[in-house]
Amino acid sequence: MSAAVPGTPGAPVTVRVPAKVNAQLTVGGLRPDGFHDLANVFLAVDLYDEITAAPAPEGEGPLLTCSGPDAGRVPLDHTNLAVRAAYALALRHGRSPDVRLHIAKDIPVAGGMAGGSADAAGALLACDTLWGTRTPREELLAICAGLGSDVPFSMTGGAALGRGRGEVLTPLEVGGTFHWAFAVAEGGLSTPAVYRECDRLRERHGAGAGVADVPAPEPSAALLDALRAGDADALAAALTNDLQPAALSLLPGLADTLKAGTAAGALAALVSGSGPTCAFLAADAASATAVARELRLSGTCRTARTATGPAPGAAVR
Ligand code: ATP
Repeated sequence: MSAAVPGTPGAPVTVRVPAKVNAQLTVGGLRPDGFHDLANVFLAVDLYDEITAAPAPEGEGPLLTCSGPDAGRVPLDHTNLAVRAAYALALRHGRSPDVRLHIAKDIPVAGGMAGGSADAAGALLACDTLWGTRTPREELLAICAGLGSDVPFSMTGGAALGRGRGEVLTPLEVGGTFHWAFAVAEGGLSTPAVYRECDRLRERHGAGAGVADVPAPEPSAALLDALRAGDADALAAALTNDLQPAALSLLPGLADTLKAGTAAGALAALVSGSGPTCAFLAADAASATAVARELRLSGTCRTARTATGPAPGAAVR
């Protein structure tokens, strides 16, 4: 681990941050502030982005580069969550946000696996280490929550229940390793568009989409028990995602992807978060590899990966 002495140029700092899958994503009604209350069970999986922060001349501000197969789809300007994280930390410490950031991207972009959130958490920790600003953990997590609902979990990793809009975290005990295959889609889905579609479908079915119309989201006891026990069969029976109908409505072809993974022997199939990545829980590592191979052959996705969870959160390499 390399750390900069405050006020002097330091060695580059690289932070590794995991992707996530939602084992439960229960969506409450649309709040007046435009967000939804969630009962969100996050599990970090061992697909990682790496964010490197290197010193930059004074006054240069954050400069971002990105590498990896999806790099062309990552914005490099101030809208990038990694750049916003650098600005937020610099503001907190009243310093200039000079840093050269590089993202080595392995998490699918706009895939419902919190790739942008991972980069925000990674940039925050990398800049804090490079600049020697030594921000207390609680404050780092508060800055994360200001950057996005999924960013605090990207920092903590492991498994957690997310309440509020997902940012109020309670760590969860996990009694084993779960094996997954992920089908990566050709394009992406915009998370806000998927939430809008969820509201539209609820209204079309006559139930209403507001907080008064939709039951308050609650964590599933069966799911938390399955995680605690490390029981893949029980977890498979308890996986849920309220955003899945909306993702399928926007991209009906995902139904074929889900079917292909189930036919290949997955214990359960679901859309990951807001999609379009689809997640398949497998009985063991060999089964996850077989499911990923069949998914690649099925022609229903761009590629398929395997991963295990829980994985550790953002950490300096
Ligand atoms: P989540 O699961 O948190 O809803 P996601 O995994 O579906 O997010 P991201 O990969 O975070 O989606 O990308 C969503 C959009 O955010 C992208 O289309 C891109 O325009 C923008 N974006 C901003 N910063 C980043 C980043 N560092 N990496 C990827 N996309 C980013």
